[in-house]
Amino acid sequence: MSDNKTQLGFGAMRLPQTDANNPTTIDMDELTKMVDYYMQQGFNYFDTSYAYHNEKSENAIKETLVNRYPRESYKIADKIPTWLLQKEEDNEKLVNIMLERLGITYFDVLLIHNINKAFIEAAEHANSFEYLRKAKKEGKAIKVGFSFHDKADLLEEILEKYHDIVDVVQIQLNYLDWKDQRVQSEKCHEICLKYGVDIVVMEPIKGGMLINVSKNIKENFEKEGKKLAAEALKFAASRENIITVLSGMSSLEQMKENCKTIKDFKTMSDEDYDFLMQQAEEIRKDVDINCSYCNYCVKECPQNIPIPDLFNLYNSDKIHPLQANRALYGSTSAVNAPASSCIECGNCLKYCTQHLNIPQLLKDVANHFE
Ligand code: SF4
Ligand code: SF4
Repeated sequence: MSDNKTQLGFGAMRLPQTDANNPTTIDMDELTKMVDYYMQQGFNYFDTSYAYHNEKSENAIKETLVNRYPRESYKIADKIPTWLLQKEEDNEKLVNIMLERLGITYFDVLLIHNINKAFIEAAEHANSFEYLRKAKKEGKAIKVGFSFHDKADLLEEILEKYHDIVDVVQIQLNYLDWKDQRVQSEKCHEICLKYGVDIVVMEPIKGGMLINVSKNIKENFEKEGKKLAAEALKFAASRENIITVLSGMSSLEQMKENCKTIKDFKTMSDEDYDFLMQQAEEIRKDVDINCSYCNYCVKECPQNIPIPDLFNLYNSDKIHPLQANRALYGSTSAVNAPASSCIECGNCLKYCTQHLNIPQLLKDVANHFE
């Protein structure tokens, strides 16, 4: 169980936007209020990446945090875009761009982004783990590691090989994925404990999926006097050696709720744990597509299909069929492209953090809505 030193991390991948369809339109006024509130509450861990918000996240953090607060008052974690690594020099080149975008001279945590079976090859080809060692030596990073999106056996292989370099591993951990055979949160957590690395949790609410549950699940929580988001955060924070639980917050209201949850946090009881495991079983019955809304697939799609949005609508409609879902499907498809426009090129597959068979699932979505 946790030692209660867990803090809430400000994930900068779902920042508030002025135009919901354009990730580059970050709402700087709302973000400024969120940063101020978060800092006032005594938290200080900001997690961004080269890629978030179509490469605009780092700059938004610069304007709202770096330009306004002393450097020693906050921590910044940033991630090297593994998919852009072709040769060794690319590590340095990308890191210098990241530092410049943020307006800082060092990262508190420097991670290789989205390590999975496909991208570990790219990272090794570019000698990125040795680069992390060098970055630490040169003072460009205090701690180094990687964010991970694959099964526990690969995680163990990587840590066995690089545990002398890696300080931090960012894993996907939430009560729905804890026992999940594909994501294997529990096993990944065990491997991190075995190698003694700091653990940063991402997707504790699974991209919002654990809030948008069916009516009967909501009622189960209400009967127990529990809140959906709060329980999900508490579950993650209660696991051992969790340094930070990241939440990709999109509004001041969400930020206030999450800050309160983590500030008031007490390690979860066994009864509460059992309750969540039961709810996970129920949710699994409801959810057809386990997409975490990371958005990595979207940029790779030549057809401009808003893949996670369509999956999300499909999941919602399977739980509660509504005319509004159909209307939203129609308008979303019209602005971008419908599920049926997939040409099965397979570009998206290696980017999928949840290993979904996206072209096949899009056929299901098309059959359902079109
Ligand atoms: S397989 Fe379909 S969804 Fe995936 S990138 Fe190609 S067109 Fe887009
Ligand atoms: S389909 Fe996969 S890559 Fe695309 S948003 Fe969902 S989890 Fe991420």
